[in-house]
Amino acid sequence: MGRLFGTDGVRGVVNEELTPELALRLGEAVGTWLGPDKRVLVGRDVRAGGEMIRNAVVAGLRSAGVEVWDAGLAPTPAIQYATKKLGYDGAVIITASHNPPQYNGIKVVAGDGVEIPRSTEREIEEIFFESRFRRLGWKELSGSVGREDRVLKTYVDGIVGLVDREAIASWGFKVLVDPANSVGALALPQVLRRLGVRVVTLNGHLDPAFPGREPEPTVESLSETARVTVAVGADLAVGTDGDADRSIFIDEKGNIHWGDRSAALLAGHLAEKEPGAPRRVYTAVSSSGLVEEYLKPMGIDVVWMKVGSVDISRRLMEEGGLCGFEENGGFMYPRHHPVRDAAMTTALMLEMMADEEEAASKLFDRLPKYYPLKTKVPMTRDKALRAVNLVREKYSDHRQVTIDGVRVVGEDYWFLVRPSGTEPVLRIMVEAKSPDRAKRIAEELKALVMKA
Ligand code: MG
Repeated sequence: MGRLFGTDGVRGVVNEELTPELALRLGEAVGTWLGPDKRVLVGRDVRAGGEMIRNAVVAGLRSAGVEVWDAGLAPTPAIQYATKKLGYDGAVIITASHNPPQYNGIKVVAGDGVEIPRSTEREIEEIFFESRFRRLGWKELSGSVGREDRVLKTYVDGIVGLVDREAIASWGFKVLVDPANSVGALALPQVLRRLGVRVVTLNGHLDPAFPGREPEPTVESLSETARVTVAVGADLAVGTDGDADRSIFIDEKGNIHWGDRSAALLAGHLAEKEPGAPRRVYTAVSSSGLVEEYLKPMGIDVVWMKVGSVDISRRLMEEGGLCGFEENGGFMYPRHHPVRDAAMTTALMLEMMADEEEAASKLFDRLPKYYPLKTKVPMTRDKALRAVNLVREKYSDHRQVTIDGVRVVGEDYWFLVRPSGTEPVLRIMVEAKSPDRAKRIAEELKALVMKA
């Protein structure tokens, strides 16, 4: 049977791979899987073709008898939170998250506000490929799509109620927000203003061409943001991805910190904030070795998992813990909602700075030093899998973790080589105790994988 869902929903270049026909059939399949008389929230990010794809999905859902409510433009975590909080049976979000501008995607969320588990994806795929659609008779087709306009307010209220507003406000923080010209602009400044923060925005107008920077927050794409952080004298800056579930932080000196670094600090903060929570965090094999090095002495366990936030979210919900995270800036605070959430994470960062009475750069100085380097090589999935095998053979005398791709742990470095779940690329992440060493290892790996 064919596959539709990748690491995180259905993705493709809009109108080439992700066509209205595909969206319509997926809407029918999701509607059939849900069953009759269910209420579903739909929403989207700023991407080109988003309205077209949404309308096709809605047509499919309605054909199967689903009652549809439109949330309009909103961050993915806002729609997820509202799904649970406002009592919907599920949600469909039209977004390609961090992918390049020509992509769009469809993400399906269960009634608990978390992405559907893998097993449900399989069920929906079966209905899709076998065209086992439930279609209403003409007499049953009545009503129209409703408008749900409580999503953003519900979301912002939820976040503001979970942090120490007074402590944050007392510091008079100035924060630079870079939402990449997408839906982060609709919630993050609002949350911060409510926390008594002075907000400056960069790339704050909505634009599907993503003129400010690419929708993926990376060291390269955030370099201008880092310069502006220093220029405007911000205490902290946050760069989100296209649907504002991922957040990458920049300290007041303009240093960009990868998501596992901010997550390690936040896990320490949450261990104090939530004394009753299990002292455990969940993260993917792509996270740095510094996480364990920093959290172990505090008695906090690190559970390593396959890359993919859905599994982390679901495991965090089932077993409980302080938080879940990915190195790419996805951070989950389960007391709010066990999904990645840039605005919630930013509020927690500010609460930590206020509690610790320290500048952001000083907090990051507490972490063990590693120099990260991320790169990607375009190649098909087959070639990427061959490349992973080449790496496994070459480093066969090293400690390897093969839950997902291959993670190799050396004496003063570690690296991960894995095929992307959403794009035809091979991702390479290296961290070493010196920048030169990281660069040399990355170059060696690039040369090696090119042989595939
Ligand atoms: Mg995202």
